[in-house]
Amino acid sequence: MPAELTFVAPRRAKPPRHLADLSPDERAEVVRELGEKPFRAKQLAQHYFGSLVSDTSAMTDLPASSRERLGEALLPTLLTPVRHITCDNGMTRKTLWKAFDGVLFESVLMRYPDRVTLCISSQAGCGMNCPFCATGQAGLTRNLSTGEIIDQVVASARDLANGEVAGGPGRISNIVFMGMGEPMANYKRVLQSVRRITDPVPNGLGISQRGVTVSTVGLVPAINKLIDERMQVRLAISLHAPDDELRDELVPINTRWKVDEVLDAAWRYAGTTGRRVSIEYALIKDINDQAWRADLLGKLLKGHLVHVNLIPLNPTPGSKWTASRPEDEREFVRRLESHGVAVTVRDTRGQEIDGACGQLAAAEN
Ligand code: SAH
Repeated sequence: MPAELTFVAPRRAKPPRHLADLSPDERAEVVRELGEKPFRAKQLAQHYFGSLVSDTSAMTDLPASSRERLGEALLPTLLTPVRHITCDNGMTRKTLWKAFDGVLFESVLMRYPDRVTLCISSQAGCGMNCPFCATGQAGLTRNLSTGEIIDQVVASARDLANGEVAGGPGRISNIVFMGMGEPMANYKRVLQSVRRITDPVPNGLGISQRGVTVSTVGLVPAINKLIDERMQVRLAISLHAPDDELRDELVPINTRWKVDEVLDAAWRYAGTTGRRVSIEYALIKDINDQAWRADLLGKLLKGHLVHVNLIPLNPTPGSKWTASRPEDEREFVRRLESHGVAVTVRDTRGQEIDGACGQLAAAEN
């Protein structure tokens, strides 16, 4: 057969290996294979996680002759910021990142008086196809590597520490996996990322597990696995409807794992961790904001370790849906509270820079 007729499947290149992808032992092994002293691995990790430095030429405690080699092997450039966009007087900053293969995704830094939250992506795109979510519309491009997830945090933390974000130098206190992607569909790398985020320096960034939120459409087997990790991270469930009929439409994976199965998994999570589960509910005008649905939701949640986060819908381009009327939102809150369920209405940080919930869809794509 002539060569030009043989089909060659496009080889999907993997993101470059980075020390954040490896365990401390694996890092030491890589360093040893380069003919360097194994403790160099720990020095590199100390620079990256402890001092937020990725550029080995600045690492004066490494032999000058080894810096480049060690950098190439364990601290390759993973992400390039394409641009930063700010709003809310600079207190919200969205960054568009480009990976080694040109793939684009976003993170959002939000400063509050008492905390700094970084919202990160776990996938480029998303395969869950929720019709109200901008990311869902384009489908899944690929999973992000652990290094690509972690580098969003490290690069943002570095800018924040260096005073490059309005409000003066600061530190990230909270991480939410609420950017692009379904974290539980990239379980292994997300879990490894949570470890890197929460392990103490030099193996991780030393952010409290209680400050990390993993948000999911409700992939029940993955929630069960997370329960077995015995971590203290917060679990958020994107419920958006209390009844299967509507949830099948709003969160299509519901046809696989129903509302009651997802909530059962949530209560098991709350039971083993002792942590309140967050129920995310985007209020969509005349779709899921009826008083009877608030009552139904209240009945399902009543008596459980739970907190409801109502999110005024951020309309995505071309969508026929919009946010609820203020009076319907108020009534929804009132009905939930009448069942004794804790509820807050989330602020809509970043809306005007398309950096608000579910709007993260790199325009360039
Ligand atoms: N895939 C995960 C995490 C990403 S989205 C999940 O679904 O939980 C983070 C939250 O924003 C989810 O609760 C999601 O349902 C919500 N969201 C998505 N699009 C939205 C929109 N247009 N308006 C308001 N919230 C939205």
